[in-house]
Amino acid sequence: MLIDLHNHTLHLSTDSGLTLDELLARAKERGLDGVCLTEHNAVWQNTARLEAAGQRHGLAVFRGMEVNTQYGHVLVYGVRAFRNSMFNFDELCRVVESEGGVMVLAHPQWVGVGRPPTMDIIANHFHGIEVLNGEVSNDANGYVESMAVSLGKFGTGGSDSHSIGAVGKCATLFQNPVRNEEEMVKEMRVGRVTAVRLAPSSNGLKSLNGNNSLPH
Ligand SMILES: [Zn+2]
Ligand SMILES: [Zn+2]
Repeated sequence: MLIDLHNHTLHLSTDSGLTLDELLARAKERGLDGVCLTEHNAVWQNTARLEAAGQRHGLAVFRGMEVNTQYGHVLVYGVRAFRNSMFNFDELCRVVESEGGVMVLAHPQWVGVGRPPTMDIIANHFHGIEVLNGEVSNDANGYVESMAVSLGKFGTGGSDSHSIGAVGKCATLFQNPVRNEEEMVKEMRVGRVTAVRLAPSSNGLKSLNGNNSLPH
C-alpha cells in the first residue's frame, strides 16, 4: 500500500496553496493508495470531512503533523492534537511516547528552524528518518539513506507537497495494508515500510530504481 506521508494543505498550513480536494485528486492520478496530512503544528480535527473527501476520491486519508522544534522539523504520526509546548523537542518526545505515536526526522538535509539534531539525539529519540522528500535533490537524499541504515532506522518518503505539481513525487510503501492511523503507526513502529521515489510520469507508479510494478 503506497502512502505519501508528508503533505500540506492551505486549510491548516499557511505556506501551502493546495486544497484538500486538489491534493487527493492529484494523488489518485499519481497512483497512490493514501495520503497523510502533515500540517505545520496542527492536526486535522474534522475527521468526518477527511473521510468524506477520501471516499469522494477513492483514497485513504490519514493524519500526522509536522512540528517546528529546536532541532528542526519533526514529523509525528499517531498524536491527537498540537499544543504549544510541543515546540520543545523533549516535550514532543514525551507526548509521542505517551500517545504511542511515531517520530520521524523530516528532511534532515534542510533544517528549517533551530539547529540539526546530533547523531545521538537521532539515534535515541527518532523511530525513523524521512530519507526521500520531494523538495530535496537525489544526491542529498543518498547521504540520508545511508545515515538511516547505519542508525538502524526505517526510512519514509513524502512529497512535502505545498502545490499540485509537487504531489506524488515520493511515497512510502507499506508492506501490509493499513485501514486507520493506529495500524499505520503500528506498521511504522516495527519498520515495515520502504521509501519510494516516483517517476515524474503521469501514471506515477514507476520508481526511478527500475521497479515499475510496485505492489499496492
Ligand atoms: Zn519541513
Ligand atoms: Zn513539510
